[in-house]
Amino acid sequence: MKKIYLDYAATTPVDPRVVRVMQPYFSDTFGNPSSLHYFGQQALSVVDASREAIAGTLKADFREIVFTGSATEANNLALRGALLGYRVWGLGSRKKKLALNPSGYTLTPRIIISAIEHESVRETAYDLAREGVEVVEIPVDRYGVVDVKKLEVALDERTVLVSIIYANNEIGTIQPIAEISKIIRNFHDESRVPPSSRFRRAGTSPAEGEARHGRQESRMPLLHTDAVQAFQFLDCAPAELGVDLMTISAHKMYGPKGIGTLYAKGSRVSGIGSRAIGKRESKTLNPSGYTLDPILTGGGQEFGLRSGTENVPLIAGFAKAIEITASVRPRESVRIKKLRDYFWAGLKKIVPQAELNVPCVNSSENALAAQFLPHILNVYFPGVSAEHLITKLDILGVAVSSGSACRSRALEASHVIQALGFSKDRALQSIRFSFGRPTTRTFLDAALKKIKTAFA
Ligand code: PLP
Repeated sequence: MKKIYLDYAATTPVDPRVVRVMQPYFSDTFGNPSSLHYFGQQALSVVDASREAIAGTLKADFREIVFTGSATEANNLALRGALLGYRVWGLGSRKKKLALNPSGYTLTPRIIISAIEHESVRETAYDLAREGVEVVEIPVDRYGVVDVKKLEVALDERTVLVSIIYANNEIGTIQPIAEISKIIRNFHDESRVPPSSRFRRAGTSPAEGEARHGRQESRMPLLHTDAVQAFQFLDCAPAELGVDLMTISAHKMYGPKGIGTLYAKGSRVSGIGSRAIGKRESKTLNPSGYTLDPILTGGGQEFGLRSGTENVPLIAGFAKAIEITASVRPRESVRIKKLRDYFWAGLKKIVPQAELNVPCVNSSENALAAQFLPHILNVYFPGVSAEHLITKLDILGVAVSSGSACRSRALEASHVIQALGFSKDRALQSIRFSFGRPTTRTFLDAALKKIKTAFA
């Protein structure tokens, strides 16, 4: 029996072109990029070329691309790294000799997240809360769009980081990141404090003084976005979005598992122990006025932000996956959206009581501002346990999930569906269908037939 995979938001098969690109770097070009000899330099040139290619697609600087072991790690680096940077360099600096709170911060730092973050941000934020960080969760409306007014009100001088997912992995809602960035920029401008005259040389302007010495306060909070799901369908140039930090993952775009990237604006003078720039210089504040400190220390790879020998084949594969994704994006977005709408129309005929959790399929309701990724369809089946339906469909040969892959075995009610204002019961009776490059109408017709059997 041919299996039908409708869980592309969980992971995607590796594109054969990506496999071909990776192949030589397992056994032939196997050097350690840190080694000075021929083998090492050969491997380093592959890492450099891949980094350059990814930076080009993102319209970013070569040194702003930091490879990590997963998007989960990149999200951890964004949140934990920003907090570490704050503790060492910012208002929270122990060096200021102000009264410390029990967690070692002079002022309790705040991070702001949305109510629908992926677990890799959400659980990391909660973990930081156990260390004394204040976590503010911004609610979303019934379409899953973050309440930007509430976000604006939540910003204060202790806010180190705002992390808002670009497009959600369970419902596909796209967030107004550029608008959020504007709000944060306005906040920076209003809260900017000219550097004290102590820091300023006679005859220099405050702006020059600030350029020379920077102040973390003036660049706080940093804006991070998890663009793991968004990248497949949206142009994610960080400078255009106005973000300081952005996470992407290879295995959601037909690349290998176990490799992610954190775009880190101006990271070239951040971090400690940087191989590229040396320890002394790396201890200074960077020109954007903030530092991101590493959460993994060691050999100082990745400009000091992520120690550990670079995974050359995966990095090369990631670059190829990004190149292909960027080239097919417009065509695939239209094609997959049509397939999703086709599938929903078919499903509704089979299970008339089924309801969409967000109105992603063309309807008068979504003439409203909310926008959704094309490949995700989150459906509520009243009175049907999602767990049972997933199992039943799996036996029939159709692979779907209840939402985030990380939760699928724990069978918890989705925090995302509940954040839309729905009950726990509804969350436990909802299923995510997600579509990908191999999906065709023939596959969907076959899946609909199986679904009919499941509901017979
Ligand atoms: N962020 C989002 C939005 C995701 O969908 C996922 C994967 O499910 C992740 C982060 C984690 O990615 P990774 O599996 O590379 O750690």
